[in-house]
Amino acid sequence: MRAVDLIQRKRDGYELAPADIAAFIEGYTRGAIPDYQASAFAMAVYFKGMTAAETVALTRAMMETGEVLDLSDLPGPKVDKHSTGGVGDKTSLILAPLAAACGVFVPMISGRGLGHTGGTLDKLEAIPGFRVGLSLEEFRAVLRKSRLGLIGQTPEIAPADRKLYALRDVTSTVESRPLIAASIMSKKMAEGIDALILDVKTGDGAFMQKYEDSLALAQAMVDIGRGMGKKVAALITDMDQPLGRAVGNALEIAESVETLKGKGPKDLEDLSVELAAWMLSLAGAAASLDAARAKVRDALRSGDGLAKFREVIQLQGGDPRVCDDPKHLPAAREKVEVLAETAGRVTSIACRAVGTAGMLLGAGRETVDSRIDPAVGLILHKKVGDPVEKGEPLLTLHVNDRARLDESLSLVKSAIRLGPDAPAPRPLVHSILD
Ligand code: URA
Repeated sequence: MRAVDLIQRKRDGYELAPADIAAFIEGYTRGAIPDYQASAFAMAVYFKGMTAAETVALTRAMMETGEVLDLSDLPGPKVDKHSTGGVGDKTSLILAPLAAACGVFVPMISGRGLGHTGGTLDKLEAIPGFRVGLSLEEFRAVLRKSRLGLIGQTPEIAPADRKLYALRDVTSTVESRPLIAASIMSKKMAEGIDALILDVKTGDGAFMQKYEDSLALAQAMVDIGRGMGKKVAALITDMDQPLGRAVGNALEIAESVETLKGKGPKDLEDLSVELAAWMLSLAGAAASLDAARAKVRDALRSGDGLAKFREVIQLQGGDPRVCDDPKHLPAAREKVEVLAETAGRVTSIACRAVGTAGMLLGAGRETVDSRIDPAVGLILHKKVGDPVEKGEPLLTLHVNDRARLDESLSLVKSAIRLGPDAPAPRPLVHSILD
């Protein structure tokens, strides 16, 4: 079918055949179909949507424009987690070693942070020497040795997504559920995994703020994964306040290590354990979800999760001493405390504003080309519901460059609200699609 006919069919609300979608995506990636036709296609999808079958076909077509890892020679189930991103969301650094310590392979390919949200790759690069840019052969070797590998998106994986995403970004077509779902899943399905747990965030700091939107995106991704023959489930989890207490790359590595030692914040530990348990359960590595939870808790208590993290750091060229003492991580020159002006209870923490405050200090990227500073960020001393005395520290900013300190300070000061009573606690996991 000619590109113009395919665009017309989508514009008029007809369902497209998988072979036509595949030919369009292949032609676009190769340069045979121009940007203006791909833009029109994306806009037609934006307005008319896609059926589940079309979305699976789009995902498969995008995935097949690049390398699809074949990890079938590794003896055991391969399973990953994907999060739609948030503020202080460092669960990957905790659950990946825990799940690998429990016997499954975790070939994790992660992204970088943008705007108010962080990215696993940036966090890993805060570990001196850690290489996220392994070749696929090196990745395979690390996985074989430790069952865990942590790398970045390579140009060989789903090149159609890279090209299409850049186009969507400038044609106002990012916010299309089938396009988002296909974009995320084309990269994940190229990892050669058998199972995937999706952590779809909801709330102020999430990509999708409204619960209904998060749920619909989760359902679209679960449908794609299952349509491609994988075991997939999704948890809709809370991102209405930062996860844990640390925001900023080295600070989040330190908090992850503490959590792997059993001394981390409860919300972070609980969500990491829950997601790791889902990984084991989906991969068939435990008899039930409860048995999986018990196994992951054992790996946490015994220190096996921390040992696995240390091992992968060493194998990927990083300094494993970060697991012994945070002094081996980059540290900011200056700490600036924000004190409570009144007493009360924390009623809310504007999550997006806290993430943006971290970004302004240099912990995140304003644009894809921004340089980040691994040392900077902030530590929250209070979370929603905590009691506060007048004059007590609410949070500490870790600062190297004062250029945007005032902007950052004013954001965090208005982000933390105090009142007389603690609000009803929000659940960590809002719902489950399994
Ligand atoms: N993340 C992605 O990888 N793709 C999208 O389209 C949106 C978020």
